[in-house]
Amino acid sequence: MSSESLVSVDVDLERDGKQFGNLAVPQSTNSSGWAKYFVPVVVIKNGSGPTAVLFGGNHGDEFEGPVTLMNLARKLDPSAVSGRVILVPMLNRPAVQAGTRLSPLDGCNMNRAFPGQPHDTITGMIAHFVSSTLLPLADLVVDIHSGGSSMHFLPSVNMHEVANRDQMQQMLDAGRAWGAPYVFIYRDVAGSGLLPSLAEQMGKVTLGTEMGSRAQFGVETLGLTARGVENVLGWAKVIEPPAGQETSEPRFVAATEEADYIMAPASGLFEPLVELGDEVQAGSVVGRIHDLEQPDREPCAVTADTSGMVMARRAIPLTGQGEMVAALVRPFEL
Ligand SMILES: [Zn+2]
Repeated sequence: MSSESLVSVDVDLERDGKQFGNLAVPQSTNSSGWAKYFVPVVVIKNGSGPTAVLFGGNHGDEFEGPVTLMNLARKLDPSAVSGRVILVPMLNRPAVQAGTRLSPLDGCNMNRAFPGQPHDTITGMIAHFVSSTLLPLADLVVDIHSGGSSMHFLPSVNMHEVANRDQMQQMLDAGRAWGAPYVFIYRDVAGSGLLPSLAEQMGKVTLGTEMGSRAQFGVETLGLTARGVENVLGWAKVIEPPAGQETSEPRFVAATEEADYIMAPASGLFEPLVELGDEVQAGSVVGRIHDLEQPDREPCAVTADTSGMVMARRAIPLTGQGEMVAALVRPFEL
């Protein structure tokens, strides 16, 4: 079977100037036996120089990326670029339009679908096109996320700790350049196949973000995202660094232990007892889960097994067993 992508693109990735176009993903549906599903892509190129590839809407209920990248696509003039900027504002467009984390078309999580396959459901086909065509072009990869519907986050730029020290240092420098309050080093506790993981493995300077959550979506998180993207493009010398944007030194934090990601031991109504930014000691209670069927029962205590600061916490009160209720971080040094 061919490893060639079945996804076509109607922009010339090598041409100077600004082009708005689409990835076209083959589909065959009840309403159209022969169809293409369009995913917008924008290329802004001016001569030779580094290539930055930026994604929004990898998860459909995280809207900071789509807004920021659509604004940037309209605003950024090719004359201001040295090199190339490729924007995919709604990577999982079916999910963005549905406002859901996962695609309504195939139930798949785009950020678990990498590297994808040429013959796959729509999510895997898009992932495969990105893996095989867009990521190899990139010097800098940015994948904009937030906590979406289910999690609140302290605003951060994030990454894994990669083995290559030079790559790691560049990623930390790029993270510092963003201007977010935190640079957060995380580990995967909920599966593999992440876009940033693949980009990191390919040796790219890769930044993810957790800009807030659906409930926190607003002027502040959008400003942090828009300024951060411009700052990082400036850091990568794809555009002139924006003038007059004072950025303070972020706090570098990491959740390195499996136990830093606290999962609910039982299902029920989660009552948080700690808030974002609170310091938690190992053994202390971070929340309680009420049994909706047996109100006379004492709620189930959720205890931390590690010590650290609350970086993220659950945003949905109703909680299923095994769902994350909080993540703890400690200071990080390379
Ligand atoms: Zn996400």
